[in-house]
Amino acid sequence: CGIVGYIGHQEAYPIIIKGLQRLEYRGYDSAGIALYEDGEIHVSKTKGKVEDLKKKAENAANTLGVLGLGHTRWATHGVPNDTNSHPHYSNSGDLVIIHNGIIENYESIKKALQKRGYEFKTDTDTEVLVNLIEEVKNKEGVKLGKAVQLALNQVVGAYAIAVFDRTKPDEIVVAKLGSPLAIGIGENEYFIASDASPFIEYTNNAIYLEDEEMAIIRLGKEIKLRKIKNDAIA
Ligand code: GLU
Repeated sequence: CGIVGYIGHQEAYPIIIKGLQRLEYRGYDSAGIALYEDGEIHVSKTKGKVEDLKKKAENAANTLGVLGLGHTRWATHGVPNDTNSHPHYSNSGDLVIIHNGIIENYESIKKALQKRGYEFKTDTDTEVLVNLIEEVKNKEGVKLGKAVQLALNQVVGAYAIAVFDRTKPDEIVVAKLGSPLAIGIGENEYFIASDASPFIEYTNNAIYLEDEEMAIIRLGKEIKLRKIKNDAIA
């Protein structure tokens, strides 16, 4: 399983596809990609190999998206099929997440969210997390980074995640506990990946997140590193 993300000035699609191929050695059963362009998110995902994703994402390949997330899945909750493949949306359609790992207490969170009107299209633990982040964000009236932090404090499990908001496409929020996550820092561009191999040709300036650490990655700004448990986030 693997994660690749990009925000910057280059076309995200080829960087992400090539990156996912470099992470294939980690093993996976499905692959998917989300690309942002002009206020819209284009998601392509499929059971199978990155080669299959390339065929399915032919239209996406023509977007000039400069923000994107890619994922290879090793299913833990929900069978490997197209629907359960990542990326996953929140109910509003604004938040997009990719996740490697397991949310162990997803069932109780899912039931609580369902009581409050949330609907689920997949059988994954990951879709629960993205909706929890959305609910916290709306309820507390906080920015995405703070919402991710508050949501993760309700979660038991292991994860490397990357999330972005369609309405604020200059930012990706990432967090890590258990699964690996590296950030590559280029010239006014940032890369995200499970290891440095997807971005090694673009930059050798990398940060490896520690467990229980998260980062708010905003274009044109320095990366904000925060502890998930107790650091203040504005
Ligand atoms: N638990 C998530 C799922 O089953 C993520 C699996 C992974 O690490 O790829 O969808």
